[in-house]
Amino acid sequence: MTPDLPIAELFAQQRPLRSLEFFPPKDDAGVETLRATAGALRRMNPDFVSVTYGAGGSTRERTAQVSEILRGEFGFTVMPHLTCVGHSRADLSEIADRIHTGGFRNIMTLRGDPPKGEATFTPYKDGLRYASDLVALLKSRHADFCLGVGGYPEKHPEAPSAEADLANLKRKVDAGASFVTTQLFFDNAVYYRFVERCRSAGITVPIVPGIMPVLSLKQIQRFTAMCGTALPQKLITRLEVAAENTEVVETIGIDWALTQIRDLLAQGAPGYHIYIMNRAKGALTLAAGLAA
Ligand SMILES: Cc1cc2nc3c(=O)[nH]c(=O)nc-3n(C[C@H](O)[C@H](O)[C@H](O)COP(=O)(O)OP(=O)(O)OC[C@H]3O[C@@H](n4cnc5c(N)ncnc54)[C@H](O)[C@@H]3O)c2cc1C
Repeated sequence: MTPDLPIAELFAQQRPLRSLEFFPPKDDAGVETLRATAGALRRMNPDFVSVTYGAGGSTRERTAQVSEILRGEFGFTVMPHLTCVGHSRADLSEIADRIHTGGFRNIMTLRGDPPKGEATFTPYKDGLRYASDLVALLKSRHADFCLGVGGYPEKHPEAPSAEADLANLKRKVDAGASFVTTQLFFDNAVYYRFVERCRSAGITVPIVPGIMPVLSLKQIQRFTAMCGTALPQKLITRLEVAAENTEVVETIGIDWALTQIRDLLAQGAPGYHIYIMNRAKGALTLAAGLAA
C-alpha cells in the first residue's frame, strides 16, 4: 500500500481541512459499531481521521487495529495518536517503526495523561517526560513522519502560566511538529487570542481548532473540568433548559458547534477537527449544515 500523504502537504493546499477523531473501542462489538460509524462518515469525505491512544492496556492494541481498519477498509488518511505513558524509549522506537512500516506517515504526538488513579505524570523507566521529547524521537527515527501536537488555548492544567505553556508549544514545533490541534473550546475568542499569541511567539504552523459537539451537560462538565476549558454561561443555560432530553441536548450541541465552525472558517482557520465521540450523527449534521 502506498504510504499516506503527510498532512502538512494537505495544509499547504491552502484550503480548510476537515478531520474527525475516533477513540479505540473496548471490545470486538465496539469495533463493529465503529465500522458502521466509519461507513456512515465516508460520505462526509474527511481529509483525515485520527485515533486516540489509551492510557494503557488492551485499547492500545485497538488503536493500531482501528487505524488499519479505517485506512484499509475505508480509505481514510489515518493519524494514530501516540503517548509517552508507560513506554520506554525502546518501546516508542519500536512502535514508531511499526507505524511507519504500516504506511502511516502522520502521528498525533502527545505526552499523555497520568493513568487513572495517579495524580501526576511520571515518566516510565527509560521513558520520556514531555511530548517535545517524543517529537524529537519520532523525527530522528523517521524524518518523513508528519507530526501533530496538542495546543491549549486555555492553558494546559499543569502549566504554571500561559507563557510557560506557550514556550512548551514552541519547543514542540521547534523539535519538528508540523501542526497543532487544539484542546476543545467553546468560545472562539479564546482561540483567536491563542493564535495571535502563538504567532507573536514565532509559532507559524497551522493551528487547527478542536471542536466537540456537546452530547450531555454532565459529560461536558466533567470533560471541561478535567481539561480546563471554560463552558460559556449561555451554553450552560441552554443545556439546562433542555434538561435530560437527549435529542434536544444534541441539537443544542450541534447548533453551537456549527456556529463556532462557521465563524472559524470565515476568520480563516486552517480547518476544524471534530471530537466525534465515535458517533456519526453530529459530524454528518455539521457537514450538512456547512454544505449549505
Ligand atoms: C488534540 C489532542 C489530542 C489528544 N489525544 C490524546 C490521546 O490520544 N491519548 C491521551 O492519553 N491523551 C490525549 N490528549 C490529552 C493529553 O495527553 C494531555 O493533555 C496531557 O496532559 C498533555 O499532553 P501534551 O502532549 O500536551 O504534553 P506536553 O506538551 O508534554 O505538556 C505537558 C505539560 O508539561 C509542560 N511542559 C512541557 N515541556 C516542558 C518543559 N520542558 N519544562 C517544563 N514544563 C514543560 C506543559 O506546559 C504542560 O503543562 C490529547 C490532547 C489534545 C489537545
